[in-house]
Amino acid sequence: MKFSNSYILLGDAFYKRVSPTPVSKPELLFWNSNLAETLQLSPSLQTNAALQAQYFSGNQLPEGAESIALAYSGHQFGQLSPQLGDGRAHLIGEVLDKHDHRFDIQLKGSGSTPFSRRGDGRCALGPAMREYIMSEAMHFLAVPTSRCLAVVTTGEPVYRETLRPGAVVTRVAASHIRVGTFQYFAIRNDIESLTTLLDYAINRHYPEINIAPENKALQFLEAVIAKQITLVVEWMRVGFIHGVMNTDNVAISGETIDFGPCAMMGIYDPNTVYSSIDTQGRYAFGNQPSITLWNMTRLAECLIPLIGNDEKAAIAIVEPLLMQFSQQFEQAYFKMLANKLGLAEIEPSDRVFIAELLETMKNKQWDYTQMFTDLTQSLDDENLANELKQTLGDWYDTWRLHVGHSQQEIEIAKAIMKTHNPVVIPRNHHVESVLKACEETGSTQAADDFLTVLRSPYNELANTGNYQDLPVDDDRDYHTFCGT
Ligand code: AMP
Ligand code: MG
Repeated sequence: MKFSNSYILLGDAFYKRVSPTPVSKPELLFWNSNLAETLQLSPSLQTNAALQAQYFSGNQLPEGAESIALAYSGHQFGQLSPQLGDGRAHLIGEVLDKHDHRFDIQLKGSGSTPFSRRGDGRCALGPAMREYIMSEAMHFLAVPTSRCLAVVTTGEPVYRETLRPGAVVTRVAASHIRVGTFQYFAIRNDIESLTTLLDYAINRHYPEINIAPENKALQFLEAVIAKQITLVVEWMRVGFIHGVMNTDNVAISGETIDFGPCAMMGIYDPNTVYSSIDTQGRYAFGNQPSITLWNMTRLAECLIPLIGNDEKAAIAIVEPLLMQFSQQFEQAYFKMLANKLGLAEIEPSDRVFIAELLETMKNKQWDYTQMFTDLTQSLDDENLANELKQTLGDWYDTWRLHVGHSQQEIEIAKAIMKTHNPVVIPRNHHVESVLKACEETGSTQAADDFLTVLRSPYNELANTGNYQDLPVDDDRDYHTFCGT
């Protein structure tokens, strides 16, 4: 593993140097060989489970690794916490993949840090596995996301209401710079560090800004907003509910990070919330766009001093950008839904017709994923087409009219639908059942079988059918926890 540590060069204000706390009995449970290959890890490391367990529990640092905990703040459920930071994570370095893209290697659950406050610095096996499975599923669904390289059990219990087995999960992300990282320096009025952070973030994620670096901070804000819109539209394409979109969980890179209480929506309903701590439904499925605007407004506030010396003038420059958000979002959102319906492009007037389907799905309590796979299949299946016509009435005919009636038009629609509508998603009841199986038996077989299918979400494999069923109670009693 060839490490470099560019974040360390930013200076002491950005992190605390701290080593992971060793664990008594590290054992490798999951190894992501697909990811290991893209990261160009040495062949010996890729096959040596004992070494993998040492390195990815934090018991031993690989050569060249330097361990730090990052500083950041964040608005949690709307309340500002001036100092959060990595309370149970250690960034041990960065590696370059085959394409020279830089990735952070971070251990999570690897012990306490100066940012831990009252936390124990540890992670339970269940949430570690959930992050592994969900991020892997998202990656293959083609949603921007961090991934996990390994899950190592520690042999030590952690106390989470009851005693649970402990684990360390290794997260690989384009970076761990968050909206909260900008907030950390902005609220301390540390303009020098804020400028350093901006330059670093631009170089790492938005180097195109350096070509014509006029008002870099403004261009950066614009670019981050565009990335966040893409991200949340993609979440909504597959029915993903992040669950805890606090500003410390929003990555500047535009990747999904921090799979805490995340879940997949079954029945279509914008009000869907599964997180037990989200009592107000702040992070409900359908609130994700407006929360993204809220989070981007917090980022904009941090950047104001870098956008212009005169605060009022800087705000006047930023405001139109934020005002455009909803329009920009809706454009991308309806385009995505049009694609799910097999249409390459849509007229603004078609939005009514798309919204009608969503309304029907909500009222009739239909499953979001299944609705679109059924529509796709109905292009080939006369019986299914007739069935859908019965339930959807005129809407179905209007849709077929949009698709077109020639064989060529139908083929084009089918091709679009098949790349935008997964045939399988990590349904909550299956995720729970494989986590339970692994915790109870120690065997990863159930999870491995599930992952094989999740790695092919647009093509049915022999076992895909095992995971397409809907939960018996429609997830009415399903609750997720932060797992911290
Ligand atoms: P999260 O809910 O995972 O986004 O974490 C919010 C904050 O709490 C971050 O600063 C975490 O580092 C910290 N945190 C979460 N769990 C723990 C834990 N078990 N020990 C210490 N800090 C934690
Ligand atoms: Mg977090």
